[in-house]
Amino acid sequence: MELNERAELDTSQANDLGRGSGGGGGGMGIPIPGGGGRGGIIGIVVAVLIALLGGGFGLNAMTNGDEGGQAGGGDLEQACGTANPDRLDDARCRNLLFVNSIQAYWQKEYPELGNGKYEPTDTNFFQAAVNTGCGQADSGVGPFYCPADKFVYIDLSFYDELATRFGAKGEFAQPYVLAHEYGHHVQDLLGTNAKAGQGDQSGPRSASVRLELQADCYAGAWAKHATESKDKTGREPLFKSITEADISQAVDTAEAIGDDSIQERSGGKVNPDQFTHGTSEQRKRWFTKGYEGGDPKNCDTFGTDQL
Ligand SMILES: [Zn+2]
Repeated sequence: MELNERAELDTSQANDLGRGSGGGGGGMGIPIPGGGGRGGIIGIVVAVLIALLGGGFGLNAMTNGDEGGQAGGGDLEQACGTANPDRLDDARCRNLLFVNSIQAYWQKEYPELGNGKYEPTDTNFFQAAVNTGCGQADSGVGPFYCPADKFVYIDLSFYDELATRFGAKGEFAQPYVLAHEYGHHVQDLLGTNAKAGQGDQSGPRSASVRLELQADCYAGAWAKHATESKDKTGREPLFKSITEADISQAVDTAEAIGDDSIQERSGGKVNPDQFTHGTSEQRKRWFTKGYEGGDPKNCDTFGTDQL
């Protein structure tokens, strides 16, 4: 994967909230249901909500990063603007570029799904913990989409976790993760989330698994077209190249975070009744299906018996 260093990034699509309670970078003022106690019951509530609503990577066994580091967010406009020639060395700016590409894709593709226009949404970078429209969350839940405020949330240290604990190395894991979360945003806009919320929330054929596999498939469809996505000016491509090796990294990542693999890795027996995201084989296959066809219409995980 080669990023285009001439690309002009749309810094309005991400915010750096920094460490702790959130709001540092964006002045978001998101209401927290039931008060603002750190962790505890709220933490559990948000984890459950996120699981129900099809966010998160289901990595609840994950630990937080270390507690060092500075508070407060950063100004992405300054960090990721063209005036900073080294901006693509900054993980936040690289992730912003991925977000720009994913949303440029959906701007174009979403109307094809027959539900009006795509509504862009921001990604919020945070460290350790964050207040969201779904309650307070900490890094332990992994990246997630919150349907209540429609933001994607990610602690970028998650990628280190992915590499060290799950063996999913390679930078293309990053845009895959983000494209999966934006897949949940698309599902939210389409009303798929809301419908699935009435179905089973765990089990091998549950609505939750169908949502997650569809988000993987949407990520694959984006990956197929990623090199076509243009920057803010509409002139420069965001990616110079994406190779087959990059795509394999996304597939390997999808495989590493299947429910069965995670259950095995955490020392337990594989228990399909507790599946929420799909098996390794399924996640890999649905990403690949999205990628090969390059068409989100191929991602109908709700209308098939062949999950
Ligand atoms: Zn998900």
